[in-house]
Amino acid sequence: LSERREFDVAVVGASVAGCTAARLLAQRGARVALIEKRPSPDAYKVTCTHAILPPAAPVIARLGLEPLLYERGAIRTGAEIWTPYGGWLELPDGASRGWGVTRRTFDPLLRRLAADTPGVELLAGWALKDVRATGPAVIEVEDGSRRRITIRSRLLVGADGRDSDMARLTRVPGRVLPHNRCFYYAYWKGVKPATDDIRVWLLDPVGGAAHFPNEDGLSMLVAAFTRAQVPEVRADLETHYLRRLTGLPDGIDLRDAERVSKIMGKLEMPNIIRLRSRLGLAFIGDAALATDPLFGAGISFALQTGQWLADATGEALVAGADLEAALRRYRRRLLLRLGAHHWHIAGYSVGRRLNAPERLLCRRAARDPVVREAFSAFFTRERGPQTLARPLVLGRVLVPRPDLTGRQPAGLSSPPEPEIPLKEAA
Ligand SMILES: Cc1cc2nc3c(=O)[nH]c(=O)nc-3n(C[C@H](O)[C@H](O)[C@H](O)COP(=O)(O)OP(=O)(O)OC[C@H]3O[C@@H](n4cnc5c(N)ncnc54)[C@H](O)[C@@H]3O)c2cc1C
Repeated sequence: LSERREFDVAVVGASVAGCTAARLLAQRGARVALIEKRPSPDAYKVTCTHAILPPAAPVIARLGLEPLLYERGAIRTGAEIWTPYGGWLELPDGASRGWGVTRRTFDPLLRRLAADTPGVELLAGWALKDVRATGPAVIEVEDGSRRRITIRSRLLVGADGRDSDMARLTRVPGRVLPHNRCFYYAYWKGVKPATDDIRVWLLDPVGGAAHFPNEDGLSMLVAAFTRAQVPEVRADLETHYLRRLTGLPDGIDLRDAERVSKIMGKLEMPNIIRLRSRLGLAFIGDAALATDPLFGAGISFALQTGQWLADATGEALVAGADLEAALRRYRRRLLLRLGAHHWHIAGYSVGRRLNAPERLLCRRAARDPVVREAFSAFFTRERGPQTLARPLVLGRVLVPRPDLTGRQPAGLSSPPEPEIPLKEAA
């Protein structure tokens, strides 16, 4: 006979999104089961290059994670973006900053914080196996020795990542958009220039490269390729990875650097968004929208959606208000705030070239601080595309100001095309 337990909320997946929602819901007074299939509280996501964008920062602060990250040496990151259309774009002074911290540090800190929150019970080592009902929910979870617990809850939350078991078991479809990139990445020490900024090279259209600084002097160096390049890259991964990193304009100096991990890679990453759901069921994080990682937005989206769900449903759960209305509010907010970003990132992930308006925007943003401010807010996903359509911004995109110059790397008045050695690029 299986054990039976009752909670207000059952959150499946104790990673970024799940831990965020669990902690914030419990702080509102809800009793939360936080169910995680990996037994170790120190488990972390390995397949991630973990740049954390500015919109995540207020959620991190609200969770109480900020002092723990500072104590552990995490970095507040700015950002610089290079495109072949105008060269460098630097985030304006005073722009909000993101975080540079490895998942090895971030995930256990957040999970412990969530597990230590009064009202949260972390069931680590228990996997979701069956969903018998939703609205209210009845689910079955199982541990490594095949013991089962039946959990009943008013609200059921899928925070179980891009290959969501919750979505499969409840038959909630996702809208899938194709993805045509792959990523190879490794940790390094001693990378120059030493910087607190995320540095991203958009090598339109063949992918890109990035340098993400983290705690303990660890740099994450990422090389992105299109899928068509994969056979050639794989035939000599080390050479292609290094050539991509060292062939960048105003690039990365690895002469005194040491690679301190193997080169890791990820191929299958379709863009998925789940707009519909079932009664009493919500998806957050990658289970709600899993987007191409080129722009490093997934962790921020996971933190934001976790917070939005808690804000929308907290009252309904503890004061007995209408839960379905609360869930509709949550889904509407997700769609309004992140829908356009998802479709923009997914649309570019097919490996297309930036179109003429996008190229013009990059050129103007490299020179004009007003355009740069709007571009940065969009690029870091703080604001939606409407910020670029403001009359002041649009006017300065269409009519350039010849008196304005942007920061450019020394000696580069007009940036050269990057060296792209692969056949497909020729
Ligand atoms: C190659 C790559 C690079 C990336 N780089 C970045 C980056 O630079 N910046 C960025 O912001 N994002 C990046 N991302 C995206 C980021 O990793 C995700 O968006 C983020 O981890 C989503 O968090 P989550 O909590 O929704 O899901 P996840 O972190 O995937 O966590 C899901 C959790 O659910 C658990 N789980 C799954 N199934 C079950 C089950 N049946 N029962 C119980 N538990 C279950 C898992 O064990 C896991 O703990 C990258 C992704 C990839 C693939």
